[in-house]
Amino acid sequence: MTDTLTLSTVNHWIGGASVASTSGRTAPVYDPALGVQTKNVVLASAEEVGHAVAAASAAFPGWRDTSIAKRQQTIFAFRELLNARKEELAEILTAEHGKVLSDALGEIARGLEVVDLACGFPQLIKGEHSENVSTGVDVYSLKQPLGVVGIISPFNFPAMVPMWFFPIAIAAGNTVVLKPSEKDPSASLWLAQLWKEAGLPDGVFNVVQGDKVAVDALLEHPEVRSLSFVGSTPIAQYIYEQSARHGKRVQALGGAKNHMLVLPDADLDLVADSAVNAGFGSAGERCMAVSVVLAVEPVADELIVKVRERMRGLRIGDGRRGTDMGPLVTEQHRDKVASYIDLASEDGAEVVVDGRGIEVDGEADGFWLGPTLIDKVPTTSRVYTEEIFGPVLSVVRVGSYDEGVELINSGAFGNGTAIFTNDGGAARRFQNEVQVGMIGVNVPIPVPVAYYSFGGWKQSLFGASKAYGPAGFDFFTQEKAITERWLDPSHGGINLGFPQN
Ligand code: NAD
Repeated sequence: MTDTLTLSTVNHWIGGASVASTSGRTAPVYDPALGVQTKNVVLASAEEVGHAVAAASAAFPGWRDTSIAKRQQTIFAFRELLNARKEELAEILTAEHGKVLSDALGEIARGLEVVDLACGFPQLIKGEHSENVSTGVDVYSLKQPLGVVGIISPFNFPAMVPMWFFPIAIAAGNTVVLKPSEKDPSASLWLAQLWKEAGLPDGVFNVVQGDKVAVDALLEHPEVRSLSFVGSTPIAQYIYEQSARHGKRVQALGGAKNHMLVLPDADLDLVADSAVNAGFGSAGERCMAVSVVLAVEPVADELIVKVRERMRGLRIGDGRRGTDMGPLVTEQHRDKVASYIDLASEDGAEVVVDGRGIEVDGEADGFWLGPTLIDKVPTTSRVYTEEIFGPVLSVVRVGSYDEGVELINSGAFGNGTAIFTNDGGAARRFQNEVQVGMIGVNVPIPVPVAYYSFGGWKQSLFGASKAYGPAGFDFFTQEKAITERWLDPSHGGINLGFPQN
């Protein structure tokens, strides 16, 4: 049993400094590959959230009015520091999330892309100008920051998901309160420290550690102008509804169940590589992971042989030892994911590869579950309908392209999907017909690059705004339109109508 008194504590970051909590509540943080508690994270009270918001509110006028040139220099400095020291951050991610080091670096690279985009923000927050809309009258628009913005992030990308939002929010002149996942909270403090080193004024970027209490306090705080949430669907819906109730702008990204449709003409080696990479990368704990392979017959038998071959070669173990796949984030989550394997057998599916009891390169107490492949999954089974969020890949055999698309479109989620085919016409039809926000054509994880926007449809996104890209700049700015006339003595007089010339 761990002696919790000797463990270090993960604190808040408020007003440019680490701040201890007075709430008296904490949660355990684990090293998932070792299966031991390594830290305690503090859980904020509503009052502590109030302190963070107050710091962000106090910093807002100064940051909003800081010149574009100075703001840009600060973001460039942050970008350079992050790039130079990304290995440090990757180690933190692996130690608390469990993902292998190479994948942790990949996560940081995708976050860095958004920082790169934010470096070019002056071009993206420009307004428009029309001269002489009526005689002697000009109209122009400004994009101004909102004020204090809240970000609530999930456990699976403790660095990347906050970076989907805060580089753009800060570049646009907002101040931030981030509430990271309590399962892997340390990355947020490392990023806060980096901002300080980059020269960001104190109070512009704050972190409150916590759970539902902190989230509710952010939702209810009148000075928090917007919420950017990423997490499971029920909580995303809650955030969306509560934000509306409290008059806040909101973008709430939810869960997923991503399908890969394999047509008979596809290159099955490419399909097998892609299914294994996208199904088991990051132990399946990605919102864009492939969870279901829809195999249009007669390809299923041959494809399963190829997928199994590749699964045999995967090295499962501690992500610091050069393995391919690490543990799941907590014991509880591992047990939940494993319970779907029991359910699959009960529901009449065929468990082709069972990841329970896998041999690992690491400590026996780690939260392990090996890659699992389940064939002939009934579409009525919860294994098919629910998000599993672990290394469990289901195969559903379908008779035609139409049957496959019908299944994808009848699902509750609409985050990502992919088609594998050599038929350009079929691919073109697919991207038109499928009701999903992000589509891959022979690409299994179609996460858009930073200068496009990320987000799903249906239960995968609540609210009108996607993350980053042009949508990110729209979300973190509000437009003002100015109609202006400089006095010209010849243009006076009474006119109660709209000006027409
Ligand atoms: P989660 O919903 O449990 O937690 C997300 C955040 O909400 C955390 O900060 C957590 O502290 C907070 N939270 C948890 N319970 C809450 C409650 N009852 N009230 C208020 N706040 C609460 O999600 P998770 O397990 O951390 O992350 C995995 C989920 O996130 C998966 O469903 C995955 O698909 C989803 N996800 C989606 C995307 C996307 O882009 N759509 C990206 C990453 C993850």
